Amino acid sequence: MKNIIIFGAPGSGKGTYSDEIVKRYNMGHISTGDVLRGEIKNGTELGKIAKGYIDQGQLIPDDLMIDILAKVYDSHEEGRGVIFDGFPRTIAQAEALKQMLTQRGHDLGMMIELVVDEQTLMERLLRRAEIEGRADDNEETIRKRFAVYHQKTEPLAQWFEQEGIRHTFTWKGSKELMLEEIFKGIDAEN
Ligand code: ATP
Ligand code: MG
Repeated sequence: MKNIIIFGAPGSGKGTYSDEIVKRYNMGHISTGDVLRGEIKNGTELGKIAKGYIDQGQLIPDDLMIDILAKVYDSHEEGRGVIFDGFPRTIAQAEALKQMLTQRGHDLGMMIELVVDEQTLMERLLRRAEIEGRADDNEETIRKRFAVYHQKTEPLAQWFEQEGIRHTFTWKGSKELMLEEIFKGIDAEN
């Protein structure tokens, strides 16, 4: 299996679709958000640093993030393919990911971009706030995360375009329809 980079705004469904893809193709899953929330829950040094950024809707600094990613990646079984969920989020992270994979003789694989209108994103995140109670799912912090996304992450779509691996899927109101199209896209690449 090729690696997959799942890309999109907060609330675009990266985690939800990753779970479905992992089940169907038996891949590894690296969610940097989940890794960081795990560190916070365990009260580690890294968790303490991460919490300050996450609660403000800001990104964790690139050098720290890149370090974490390499460690988690190397803990995965080789050859099975991994989904990167929530990474990269900046051009520097993307360049570092490409370098890390190249050093190991692996490829970036394919990038799956989820495009969802902002009103739908906000509704989803506020609903999730009621269910999961994530500290960063309140309206003020969500607005900051959208702004950071537009400023630092969205330009990356063009970077993937240049790599020739960008595949865009636009929300049309149904998760089943999205999944069907995403699976077709993955099958065509493997
Ligand atoms: P969703 O999970 O709904 O897609 P999201 O993309 O905002 O929403 P996560 O990916 O879980 O959520 O990330 C939560 C927070 O963790 C981010 O707002 C950021 O502070 C931090 N974070 C996660 N991944 C990275 C990364 N690659 N670089 C920097 N910070 C990160
Ligand atoms: Mg997520």
